[in-house]
Amino acid sequence: MKAAVLEEFNAPLNVTDVPEPELTVDGAIIRVKACGICRSDWHGWKGEWTGFLAPLPMIGGHEMSGVVEAVGANVHQVKVGDRVIVPFTCGDGTCQACISGESNVCANQTMPGFTYNGGFAEFAHVPNADFNLIALPEAVAFEQASGMGCRFMTAYHGVLSVGAVRPGEWVSVYGAGGVGLSAIQIATAAGANVIAVDIQEDKLEFAQRVGAVATVNSGSEDPVEAVREITKGGADVSVDALGINATLLSSLRSVRRKGRAVQIGMTAMGDKGLIPIAVNDIIAGEIAYLGSFGMPRSEYPNLLNQVASGKLRPGDLVTGETDLSGIVDIYDEMSNFTVKGVTVITDFTK
Ligand SMILES: [Zn+2]
Ligand SMILES: [Zn+2]
Repeated sequence: MKAAVLEEFNAPLNVTDVPEPELTVDGAIIRVKACGICRSDWHGWKGEWTGFLAPLPMIGGHEMSGVVEAVGANVHQVKVGDRVIVPFTCGDGTCQACISGESNVCANQTMPGFTYNGGFAEFAHVPNADFNLIALPEAVAFEQASGMGCRFMTAYHGVLSVGAVRPGEWVSVYGAGGVGLSAIQIATAAGANVIAVDIQEDKLEFAQRVGAVATVNSGSEDPVEAVREITKGGADVSVDALGINATLLSSLRSVRRKGRAVQIGMTAMGDKGLIPIAVNDIIAGEIAYLGSFGMPRSEYPNLLNQVASGKLRPGDLVTGETDLSGIVDIYDEMSNFTVKGVTVITDFTK
């Protein structure tokens, strides 16, 4: 089969023929129909995530959807021909977190594209398939679903479960990339008023198209002052979708007293996971600073119902389709922060 193989960090991917994955008794093999290219793939390709470094060679890709091609002898919940998506936060299904419906923080977590070969290939093997494969409704196209294994579901969990956004609240979203745009659409659908913050005008225009009622260009004005002015005192919830020093601190300072600051964006290499935060603001304002990671499988039914009914539209964020060889161009755009929306691989033959 064809696959885009990460053989060396920060070097061109090798699109080449590799052996098809082998089936395990509790696993399933998926014929990949669509796989998004996410900034996490880019981080993995750069080799800059302590704790998330893939052993090489590795086939990346963690936003995959497809059709079940084969199932192991112990798999009973999914069958050949089923349409499925794979959450990038795969659980073992047996630890306390998984049993409690919180598989996104599973003690023995696995991740396609990081701990096992992912969806930048014609076929992918998913371990513990009964637990980790999510049935995809007929009404949801594969291209639409590909972002739901990572960026869209991450935003859904961060906005609704962790941020607990309610109708009428003000929500500021820092970073109008894939996760940020998803968060804007989801918070808007939940009845919130969303302020999008980015340094690029074209991304802010995109943010307005998916629901933002106001935009702030943090390259030309102080975003904290702007958010406080628009909201008359501060956002109820702020989401940092990027994880760099400037957005993390500004997002935190944008919330009102007793507000919630949701951290979704992970830090980049230079920060090594450590960014100073405004401790005194957190204390004096009783601000909740909340980490959010992926989404547990228990939240998929609600998300899928909203997508199938058309209330949430992850397909609106898809700006392009490409083939395996096209990943390198998207990585270049990510390096330059010029990538817009979500690009999905739909051709796995070259
Ligand atoms: Zn991702
Ligand atoms: Zn678990």
